[in-house]
Amino acid sequence: MAHAPHSASKEHPKPLLHQLITDLIIFAPLLAIPAAIVDMAMHPPATAAGWAMYLGTALLFTLVGCKLRTLGISLGFHRQGTHPSYQAKPWLRGFFFMLGATTAQGKMVNWLSDHHHHHIHSDTDEDLHSPIHGFWHAYIGWLRGLLFNRHTYPQFEKDKQVMFFSNTFFVWLGLGLLVPAVVGHFTGFGWYRGFLYGGALGIFFANYVTYWVNAGCHQFGKRDFNTEDVSTNFWLDGFWGHKLSWIFAYLSWGETNHNNHHARAISANHGMFKGQFDPSANLLRLLERVGLVWNVQWTSEAHARELQKELSMTKEERKAYALQKHREKLEQQEQELTSV
Ligand SMILES: [Zn+2]
Ligand SMILES: [Zn+2]
Repeated sequence: MAHAPHSASKEHPKPLLHQLITDLIIFAPLLAIPAAIVDMAMHPPATAAGWAMYLGTALLFTLVGCKLRTLGISLGFHRQGTHPSYQAKPWLRGFFFMLGATTAQGKMVNWLSDHHHHHIHSDTDEDLHSPIHGFWHAYIGWLRGLLFNRHTYPQFEKDKQVMFFSNTFFVWLGLGLLVPAVVGHFTGFGWYRGFLYGGALGIFFANYVTYWVNAGCHQFGKRDFNTEDVSTNFWLDGFWGHKLSWIFAYLSWGETNHNNHHARAISANHGMFKGQFDPSANLLRLLERVGLVWNVQWTSEAHARELQKELSMTKEERKAYALQKHREKLEQQEQELTSV
């Protein structure tokens, strides 16, 4: 049986309604920026203290609205759903999935399948979002062409929790907008501002940071590993470069260590070398300590250095190296036996 295609083409055009929903999800959150400016102009606080209070609360709502969503994408959809890099209590797994579902990045089963597909075909013609087909395509263009009924992988279809959050996509999208409005109402910030900052702007930053990982982390930054794709760790030099890289790592929970991730996809930590900021890994360490997650696939710096060496070798060199390591192991075992 032929696979369902991923993207729209002449033979498989995208229905107009689906195109409208896609464009609404991608572009409508952008309107939150002028809406925030209009709100400030129409209802300006009377005093400097009032301004400080307003801007501080707006920032807090936006940050929490963004970071809870990107946490769900990082530790839920990505490091658990697509690459099961740790095991967790089912309620915690479901909680991360739920947070991810509030980001409006489509049905979960599609997200996992698209990302799995990206790892199999990274930066080849088959890749859904590679900058080798143009930066705009990798950033947003590919999303606009995606069919709603596209190819999905059976390992994700069999996962009951994944299918539950896939089939209730609009519920979580709605709740993700409603909850900050309710919190805004009861904290005195106002339901509209709660919706605007915690909901709409939260979705805006969460999504555009994710888009950036897809496109920017295959184009700009450093390559600590000589992987076969063109993935990068988004770490720019210079004062401002460093600040910008830190902001993207902070908002994405460390997902910008993307070259490391392509080198060892199952790794629970994406930051592998000193100074590589990875808040998701820090949180996982904490959760592991209190027993809420286990079997965490950590990559130590020594392991990463070993992997670096292997990936910089040619195929022949790699084979010879593996053989040599095998021999060394056998010799060691022999020595251990004779010394008994
Ligand atoms: Zn990638
Ligand atoms: Zn991945």
